[in-house]
Amino acid sequence: MDLGIRGKTAIVCASSKGLGKGCAQALAEAGVNLVLNARGAEALEATAHEIRSAHQVQVATVAGDITSDEGQAAVLAAAREMGGGVDILVNNAGGPPPGLWSDWEREDWLKALNSNMLTPIALIKAVLPGMIERKWGRIVNITSQSVKSPIPVLGLSNAARAGLTGYVAGTSRQVAQHGVVMNNLLPGAHDTDRIKSLNAAEVEKRGITMDEAMAERANAVPTRRIGTPAEFGATCAFMCSQHVGFMIGQNVLLDGGIGNTTM
Ligand code: NAP
Repeated sequence: MDLGIRGKTAIVCASSKGLGKGCAQALAEAGVNLVLNARGAEALEATAHEIRSAHQVQVATVAGDITSDEGQAAVLAAAREMGGGVDILVNNAGGPPPGLWSDWEREDWLKALNSNMLTPIALIKAVLPGMIERKWGRIVNITSQSVKSPIPVLGLSNAARAGLTGYVAGTSRQVAQHGVVMNNLLPGAHDTDRIKSLNAAEVEKRGITMDEAMAERANAVPTRRIGTPAEFGATCAFMCSQHVGFMIGQNVLLDGGIGNTTM
């Protein structure tokens, strides 16, 4: 299927590894020019090189923390330098640490809210005027399955992402009339560094190996495997395509069926 977005410009936040990288690769395959971002320059440049070698698209890199004002300003400036404005925004950032309700103080809450709610909202606010003016835009926010079904040890994530979800539900309906499509993509367990770091807590607590922790996680999913960044990226690219003009404010769950709900 031709996604119909060749030549568009996308910002993909937190994209040197994992799910963000999967999204960047799939968008590049569809012919989209990219601004990539991550804090660590080495992995970021390696990903940019990989994508440039595989696809005929422009790739700019911004090494910086997307949760900071400077990081956000830098990715927006890099997109402006590519010319033509931001057509596609994929919001992403690292997830908060696991813990217990009694662990978290105000500072922990502010950090989680900044990363997983206020940063995407700030970037959405920055790109919407241009998208509305050009009568075309696509915004995908990477959230989590925890929005639909809370993961108790990830209370910071459950709460911050639910806040973003509420904002997107309302705002997406206000901007749809201008050709701007905004939705959320909810990962269940996927094979990335994040899942390994979450497994590490189980490994330490229960004295099992990383392989055993990974196998337990896979066996709990109806697919008997966890997801891949490539299939996550393909879904993201579709949600940025010409074909989703009537899909507004949705929460698309990619969890291999582990969320045991009818709808
Ligand atoms: P990952 O494999 O750990 O990759 C995270 C990427 O984001 C890296 O490129 C990292 O590079 C970058 N990054 C992290 N914090 C950043 C920041 N403040 N500014 C800029 N870049 C940043 O994680 P992932 O699995 O792709 O997860 C992506 C998001 O999905 C996270 O919010 C995670 O909680 C959520 N999620 C993941 C899963 C899963 O199973 N993988 C499930 C549910 C939800 P640097 O470290 O160099 O900055």
